[in-house]
Amino acid sequence: MIEVRNVIKKYNENLANECVAVNGVTININDGEIVAIMGKSGCGKSTLLHLIAGIDFPTDGEIIIDGEIISSMQDKQLSRYRRKKVGIVLQDFCLIEELTVLDNVLVPLNFTRLSRNEKRDLATKLIFQVDMEKNLNKHVSQLSGGEKQRVAIARALVSDASIILADEPTGSLDKDNSVKIMDMLLRINKNYGKTVVIITHDSDIAAYCDRTITLCDGQVVV
Ligand code: ADP
Ligand code: MG
Repeated sequence: MIEVRNVIKKYNENLANECVAVNGVTININDGEIVAIMGKSGCGKSTLLHLIAGIDFPTDGEIIIDGEIISSMQDKQLSRYRRKKVGIVLQDFCLIEELTVLDNVLVPLNFTRLSRNEKRDLATKLIFQVDMEKNLNKHVSQLSGGEKQRVAIARALVSDASIILADEPTGSLDKDNSVKIMDMLLRINKNYGKTVVIITHDSDIAAYCDRTITLCDGQVVV
């Protein structure tokens, strides 16, 4: 379960350019839920997702995942959390363009103790699941936006994280590709019971989810 308790995130605290990106957010997301986060540009959606992912830290409040307060974890424990529990699909894919599809999906497995063959088998299985097996050895730079997004999803899933966080995964895609990506995220949620949190601008996309959390100026709209 994801518990966000009274979380505040200020950038440039106490400076002239201080920005309160998240301003006292409390939310709970249960295991196996698929939830949309909506709100205008700049309302704090990405910041909130980064805090849940443990790639940024709250200024105040707590982020509790499965009973553990990640916002006060030591480095080693936190990097373990990031490696094992969360898979994140970022807005601009963040793939390594000059590597192949396979090598990109292998990246999160670098830190595991699996053998080379085991890693390869696992990565290939995930690439199959996102229908990209034909492009296994293609360089990411040669793929379309929709294809890149599918590779990013395979990479987020390869470490078998129980929480998948996606920041506007359909933001740069046309309708057909958006529907494909959403079907994929829904399958991940329904078939594998993973908790999925999706940031989106699109109410059609949000309609696929169990519920929507709306943010405005860093706060949850009730
Ligand atoms: P959203 O994803 O909803 O568009 P963000 O979480 O990216 O919003 O940003 C929320 C607010 O925080 C915005 O006003 C943005 O300018 C600011 N912000 C985001 N990242 C930083 C940063 N690294 N440094 C300073 N301000 C930031
Ligand atoms: Mg954003």
